[in-house]
Amino acid sequence: MSQSKTAIGSSFGSPLTTLSEDEQMFRSSVREFAEGELRPRVEAMDEAGKLDPALIKQCFDLGLMGIETPEEFGGAGASFFTAIVAVEELSRVDASVGVFVDVQNTLVNNALIHWGNQEQKKKYLNRLATGSVGAYALSEAGSGSDAFAMQTRAVDKGDHYLINGRKLWITNGNEAEIFILFANANPEAGYRGITAYIVEKSSPGFSVGKKENKLGIRASSTTELILEDCAVPKENVLGEVGKGYKTSIETLNEGRIGIGAQMIGIARGALDAALAYTGERQQFGKSINQFQGVQFQLAEMATELEAARLLVYNAARMKDAGINFVKEAAIAKLYASRAAERISSVAIELYGGYGFVKDYPVEKYWRDSKIGAIYEGTSNMQLQTIAKLIIGK
Ligand SMILES: Cc1cc2nc3c(=O)[nH]c(=O)nc-3n(C[C@H](O)[C@H](O)[C@H](O)COP(=O)(O)OP(=O)(O)OC[C@H]3O[C@@H](n4cnc5c(N)ncnc54)[C@H](O)[C@@H]3O)c2cc1C
Repeated sequence: MSQSKTAIGSSFGSPLTTLSEDEQMFRSSVREFAEGELRPRVEAMDEAGKLDPALIKQCFDLGLMGIETPEEFGGAGASFFTAIVAVEELSRVDASVGVFVDVQNTLVNNALIHWGNQEQKKKYLNRLATGSVGAYALSEAGSGSDAFAMQTRAVDKGDHYLINGRKLWITNGNEAEIFILFANANPEAGYRGITAYIVEKSSPGFSVGKKENKLGIRASSTTELILEDCAVPKENVLGEVGKGYKTSIETLNEGRIGIGAQMIGIARGALDAALAYTGERQQFGKSINQFQGVQFQLAEMATELEAARLLVYNAARMKDAGINFVKEAAIAKLYASRAAERISSVAIELYGGYGFVKDYPVEKYWRDSKIGAIYEGTSNMQLQTIAKLIIGK
């Protein structure tokens, strides 16, 4: 009896929300940065529609721009889960900074770590960890969900490619110096012509176009990219020619967990604000959190947030463990984006009229939450992935 007890005892796993000592320390330092440096700037950055350059520098100085990047390339050499913790903590205060750090880590660095050759890693990962912002350019005006229908073309000119086309909706477009950009180098082959390129802002024929004026994550730049006979050296092909479709799918599978983290950060920010406010606001001679109706709304919010958090953490831990996580990542993003939207919406209601004005933080959480159902695959595309994987077709 005691023997079987020992055997069962030793096979226990850790609760998903139990962090290692390193993870806890990392979380505390990101939170301190978010509360101390980010919080005071949130409103002005949202109003201006621009990230404060001082904050961008601090993100690099704190090592937030190369979390998973191996130490030999100037990064912190930490886990994917650690990057997820950073995105969550930053988004709890400002989802624009959350996605700024998220795109750098889960899309740009990630693509280079997995698909870059040694020279590319040495050249670009170091820069991305220490001072250069990156962006990930897949979408175009006519190709979003159907990303492989892209019209951007790359023509082989011997020692370089000439790229022509336009990209739309590119996060970090204004700040970035290094772009992971997708173009079709062999349109006859359909999606098997799609190739990933590392494009520098300084490349001839490359320019950044219009910046979008958005509902939410306003401080995060979203821009058009224009490529007119943009010359990209052959050594800047990322992975194999014609395998860009694979690079984009696999990178976005991981990136999706980052968006889930952004969403649970938003939801936590909104719930924390609602908990504080409902404890202070007096109506009918008592704090409004003394009313069972309000208590139940807060309890529902906490329940949804906990579920979303477990889904996101599980997908991230699966990724680090080398287990196939595609379905779990899609579920986590789908659910977390819905939870963030609902939780931030109820938070506005709990603030009453004060929730509807910009003097209080909750309307921004709601505006910021909406993007979770759109980028890195809309909610319908997540449902399509989940359905395919559970039905087996
Ligand atoms: C703020 C912001 C930042 C972004 N950042 C980036 C970035 O950094 N890099 C990048 O490459 N892209 C980026 N995007 C683009 C984003 O990924 C796309 O907007 C998204 O994939 C949806 O594409 P679309 O806008 O063309 O919508 P569409 O694909 O036209 O979709 C419109 C609607 O049709 C539905 N739909 C489409 N096809 C199907 C189908 N087969 N079944 C069911 N429903 C379907 C969709 O779910 C959606 O509801 C960003 C977008 C925004 C708004």
